[in-house]
Amino acid sequence: MSPVRALLLENLHPDAVTNLEQAGYEVITRTGALDEDELIDALQGVALLGIRSKTTVTARAIESSPDLVAIGAFCIGTNQIDLASAAHHGVAVFNAPFSNTRSVVEITIAEIIALTRRLTEFDRSMHEGVWNKSAIGAHEVRGRTLGIIGYGNIGTQLSVLAENLGMSVIFYDTAEKLALGNARRASTMDELLESADIVTLHVDGRPGNAGMFGGKQIARMRPGAILLNLSRGFVVDPASLREAIVSQHLSGAAIDVFPVEPKRKGDPFESELRGLPNVILTPHTGGSTEEAQEAIGNFVSHKMRDYLRTGTTTLSVNLPNLALDQAPGVHRLAYLHRNTPGVLAAVNATLAKHGVNIEGQLLATRGEIGYVVTDAGAPVEQAVVEALRARPESVRLRLLS
Ligand code: NAD
Repeated sequence: MSPVRALLLENLHPDAVTNLEQAGYEVITRTGALDEDELIDALQGVALLGIRSKTTVTARAIESSPDLVAIGAFCIGTNQIDLASAAHHGVAVFNAPFSNTRSVVEITIAEIIALTRRLTEFDRSMHEGVWNKSAIGAHEVRGRTLGIIGYGNIGTQLSVLAENLGMSVIFYDTAEKLALGNARRASTMDELLESADIVTLHVDGRPGNAGMFGGKQIARMRPGAILLNLSRGFVVDPASLREAIVSQHLSGAAIDVFPVEPKRKGDPFESELRGLPNVILTPHTGGSTEEAQEAIGNFVSHKMRDYLRTGTTTLSVNLPNLALDQAPGVHRLAYLHRNTPGVLAAVNATLAKHGVNIEGQLLATRGEIGYVVTDAGAPVEQAVVEALRARPESVRLRLLS
C-alpha cells in the first residue's frame, strides 16, 4: 500500500512536518503558495493539505482532487477555503482557533503598561534628542480598572493576568460568562465604559460588531482613559478615535487591526491614526509570535493526524463534530453521507446482514452532511464497504482499523 501523502505549503512550522512524518506519512513541503492549476496538479495522490492564508482552495481544486481527505489551515481564518465544497466532497477542514491567544494577551498587557506610563511619548522625545523627565500623566497599573469587552478565550486570560498585576477587572459580554477571580460583570457596555480606566476590545467578528465602537461609545469613556483594539478592524471607528485623542478626551490608544489592511508585507499603510505619539499602531501582529506559530503547527497537524487515524472531527470547521472513544480490537468505519433519513439504519442493517456486531457508534449532522462512526466487533468485509459506498447518499467511507 502506498504511504499517505501530505503536501504542506507556505513554510509551515517544522513541528507540523515532524508530527506528520512521525505518524508515518510522506511529507512534501513547498515554501510558497500555489495557484489553482498548480495546486490541482500537486494534490493528485495527496490526502492531507496544509496551508496558511495565501493559498486559495477553490471548489474546482477540491472537486479535481479525489484523494484529498483533510485540509489544515495553519492559521485562524478559513475564508481562503471553499468550506461548503469541502464538506460536500467529504474533505475535513481544521484550523487553529485559539493557539495564538496567549500572544494577544501578552501584547495587550505590554500596551496597557506602555500607555499608562507614557512610554511611547518618552521614547519618541528621547529619539528626537529631548530629555523630557516628568511624572505627570504616568501611572502604575496597580489599582486601575481594566474594562474587557468580549470575555472569550482572550478576554478571560487577560482578566486573570491583569488581576495578577493588581488591576480591578470589569467585563461585558453579550453571552452569559463565568467571572474569573474577582472580575465583575457589567450588565451593560455603558456601565463598563463609565467605570474603566482602560477599555480593551476582544469581541469576535460577527457582522453585528461592525462599527460597534464609535463616537458615542468613546464619549462614554472616562476622561483620560485608554482604548485598545486587538480584535477586528471593523469594530472601532478610527476617525472618532482620532478626534478623541486629539481633543485629549482619551490619553492613549493601541490599535492592531484596521478596517482596511494592506495585503502584503512592505505595502504602504494609510490611517488617520498615524502620527499620534500616544497611539501604538501594530500591523495585525497581536497573535504573531514564534511560540504561536509552533502551537499552531502542532495543533493543526495533530488534528489532521487524528482525523486520519480515528475519524475524530472535534473542532473541524466544516464537518459534523464528533469523537468516539475506541475500545481495543474494534474495526472502525467512518462514513460521511448526505444528511437524509435512513442512513444509520442502512449502515446497521448492512452490518447485521454480514453478521457484524456493533460495539460503539456515534452520529452527528451539520447542514447537508451527516457523519456516522461505527466500531464493529469483527473485521468489516469488502462487501459491506461496497454496499455502503454504492448508496446514493454516500459521500466518503473510510475503513480505519
Ligand atoms: P472568542 O470567540 O473566544 O470570544 C469573543 C467573545 O466576545 C465571546 O465571549 C462573545 O460572546 C463576545 N462578544 C461578541 N460580540 C460582543 C459584543 N458586541 N459585546 C460584548 N461581547 C461580545 O474569541 P477570542 O479567541 O477571544 O478572540 C477575540 C477576538 O480577537 C476575535 O475577533 C479574534 O479574531 C481576534 N484575534 C485577533 C488577533 C490579532 O492578531 N490581533 C489574534 C487572535 C484573535
